Amino acid sequence: MVTKVTCPTCQSEVEWGPQSPFRPFCSKRCQLIDLGEWADEEKRIPGEINPDLLPEPEEGDQWL
Ligand SMILES: [Zn+2]
Repeated sequence: MVTKVTCPTCQSEVEWGPQSPFRPFCSKRCQLIDLGEWADEEKRIPGEINPDLLPEPEEGDQWL
């Protein structure tokens, strides 16, 4: 039994589990794209975006 969600960025199916660390996004790329769109929204909705919520830099990946 596998739960699947739809990637908000590219609409592809993403399995909801440990194998999908960027869920509900299919990939880190899609996650970053979505965050970028949020950043654009910030121009219209001030105060909604907290920069502290942005993902850590690549350096953390090597410890996985
Ligand atoms: Zn995607």
